[in-house]
Amino acid sequence: MDRIYLDYNATTPVDPRVLEAMLGYYHTIFGNPSSINWYGKAARKVLDEAREKVALFIKAKPSEIVFTSCGTEANNLALFGVVNSYKNAKKNKVIISAIEHHSIMKAAEQLENKGIKLIKVPVSTDGIIHLDKLFELMDDNVLMVSVIMANNETGVVQPIKEIAKFAQDKGIIFHTDAVQAAGKINIDVEDLGCSMLTLSAHKMYGPKGIGALYVNQKIKLSPILYGGGQERSRRPGTENLAGIVGFGKACEICMQEYTERDRIKYLRDRLENSILDCINYAVVHGKNAVRLPNTISISFPGVEAEALVLELDRQKIAVSMGIEYGYAAIEPSHVLLAMGKSSGQLSSTIRISLGRYTKEEEVLEACQIISSSVIKIKHHFHEINPL
Ligand code: PLP
Repeated sequence: MDRIYLDYNATTPVDPRVLEAMLGYYHTIFGNPSSINWYGKAARKVLDEAREKVALFIKAKPSEIVFTSCGTEANNLALFGVVNSYKNAKKNKVIISAIEHHSIMKAAEQLENKGIKLIKVPVSTDGIIHLDKLFELMDDNVLMVSVIMANNETGVVQPIKEIAKFAQDKGIIFHTDAVQAAGKINIDVEDLGCSMLTLSAHKMYGPKGIGALYVNQKIKLSPILYGGGQERSRRPGTENLAGIVGFGKACEICMQEYTERDRIKYLRDRLENSILDCINYAVVHGKNAVRLPNTISISFPGVEAEALVLELDRQKIAVSMGIEYGYAAIEPSHVLLAMGKSSGQLSSTIRISLGRYTKEEEVLEACQIISSSVIKIKHHFHEINPL
């Protein structure tokens, strides 16, 4: 049996069409877009074309796209760029949700060293932000609000349009981290009314090492790196030309192939329902909320998530533990904690995420292996820990 990849929220494979589009920009047209020679001008042209594609993908203007090295950098730029730029506004509060990705959460916590009062708004047991609470907190001292569009662990989608509208009426800058949402649900910044929005290419079949921050033309943004005048002086550094071309192509493909979401949702629902049929005590987090079409956050009480993920990996199925890899220690998920999940659920949750290349046969196979592994591990636990 071939390996089955069900960890698309961690990262996606580069679409072969994206790779194909990128290749010429490492060796043939490799110029520095700031150079005024032929190579530079050729590079500038493709850079502009790719910027247009990324802008079109979210219905922004090309001048409102700032390329960064990843989603993490774009999130940091949004927070620090605004706080540094509006120092004289005499507004000292920043609000985020309790379920932000670490690249917002940890960065926002650093703002407290700059005299900012950080407020984290709680969520319901289904992982939806408490809107009443948020709106009550959005007073005249709030400079900026940042709320994730769709959560990376649960896939739960937030009421971004309502928040953006309220923020607009109050004159508050509103940012949303759309890294997981992009390519899985439609994004139209004009319709949403948000001031800033983060994207990352590697979550949507583009290459790693390239992200973008949409910054509405009315918003002032200070750079967080200092150097040249690239990206309209908002992000210095020679542009990652091939990466940007790949990002543009990835956006184009997501727009053309938007119906793939229906297929993915069908497979996700099939997998989720079959697992629930086999393991009737399993709990799906955020099941009653609007969710991304590809994500399942599921807990099997009595089964350690780490043991299950390793057992599945042994059986050639890649899923994750709900938190991302790369952190020094495995900590309980702050997202599930904020949703009020019990410690038993916290330690037994895995994340399964499907994508463009997931096949029906894989879903059937995965259901059978996941269910039998859960039963096996639970049985083993009871054998070594009899009542
Ligand atoms: N925001 C969300 C919601 C994410 O899921 C991730 C990555 O997992 C990021 C931001 C960070 O993106 P990047 O890996 O491009 O730094």
